[in-house]
Amino acid sequence: MITKPKGTIDITGSDSLLWEYVNSVVSTMMSAYNYEFIRTPIFEASELFHRTVGETSDIVRKETYDFKDKGDRNLTLRPEGTAGVVRSYLENKLYAQPDIKKYYYNGTMYRYERPQTGRLREFTQFGVEVLGSNDPIIDAEVISLQYKILESLHISNLQVNINSLGDEESRIKYKEALVKYLEPHLDKLCDDCKERFKTNPLRILDCKIDEDSDILKNAPKTIDYLTESAKKRFDTVLRYLDLLEVDYEVNPKIVRGLDYYDHTVFEIVSLDNDDTRQSVLGGGGRYNKLIKELGGPDSYGIGFACGIDRIIAMLKEIDLYKSIQREIDCYVMYVSEEEKLHAIDIVQSLRLNGVVTETNSLNKNLKAEFNEADRLNAKLLIILNNEDLKMGLVNVKDNHTKEEVKVDISEIVDYIVSNL
Ligand code: AMP
Repeated sequence: MITKPKGTIDITGSDSLLWEYVNSVVSTMMSAYNYEFIRTPIFEASELFHRTVGETSDIVRKETYDFKDKGDRNLTLRPEGTAGVVRSYLENKLYAQPDIKKYYYNGTMYRYERPQTGRLREFTQFGVEVLGSNDPIIDAEVISLQYKILESLHISNLQVNINSLGDEESRIKYKEALVKYLEPHLDKLCDDCKERFKTNPLRILDCKIDEDSDILKNAPKTIDYLTESAKKRFDTVLRYLDLLEVDYEVNPKIVRGLDYYDHTVFEIVSLDNDDTRQSVLGGGGRYNKLIKELGGPDSYGIGFACGIDRIIAMLKEIDLYKSIQREIDCYVMYVSEEEKLHAIDIVQSLRLNGVVTETNSLNKNLKAEFNEADRLNAKLLIILNNEDLKMGLVNVKDNHTKEEVKVDISEIVDYIVSNL
């Protein structure tokens, strides 16, 4: 038997119901905040991720799915969403329009990681990218949108861990201080961190192996090295978050794994989940330099990404969702071929009027049809029989109260719609 590739999942049964539910909440909230859906390719030129995510990042060094196509082009399955959205923004010269652009996406990402709880090789993220504004109101909007989506899904005890990396000047000062601090401790850090020290020391703070060591705990903090204006900007973001009723904590450990961030960086966790492999539900940050680095004009960007697989894992722990099951509005029963012809017509009319309807497609007898209707949690049953049909009538049974009525066939759709 052929099995699914390592690190991938099938989404079926009650998981798929939760999946549909999460996606509908996401798209409703995105519309309310006026974000436009954007779809970019699942694979892009490899160079895009090398230039955006960064040559020195774990993602590009170890985790990308790279391949050559038949035209000898180097392509990569996207490991994250920002690079593709920014590429599209530049390629379509959308920066030439005066407005800011507010996009949201929802799609699969690919990272060749060691599969474990909360870590897949194919996973799904929804996220946003706002391009063209540096106003702190946008930092606060993006963070609160992520927070409010998770809150609407009834995930409790949410907390945003937030930090600022500051502007170019702040980052240079901070990097100097960090290098000076880390140098004497290098031999106590993992091999990857020794390498990061040469290529991108900030990334050491992100290390999953050394994260609990005192060396990292006592490292200098970015917020102590912010310039006056970067500090003022960060304080403004926090003030707006207070107004928006977002629970946050300034956490100097948050520096984010990707090369392109500056100013505001954040992660969102549920404190109810003590499994740290799963508790981070999403994160993001501002990336003002990225657009220029990719050959665009001086502009601004900020975004977040949230992992749907981890959200589903959390929802399954919440009582509200534990008994979630699919249900249908109406099940149409028949036995003879003549009744079947009426069933075909009625089922189609109901479905086109938005009534979730199912019928017998396995040549079942009446008893088996009742069982099937129960299994599907049908609210109403339409039971067709030749005698009633000859008089232009059909039987409708409420599957909960068990009450039965005869309804004129010409009025059946209206009757069902108004009795659901
Ligand atoms: P990142 O793009 O690494 O900041 O990840 C943002 C969110 O995507 C995380 O908080 C997770 O919820 C989710 N995520 C990242 N990597 C994985 C993975 N390998 N498997 C499942 N979810 C992931």
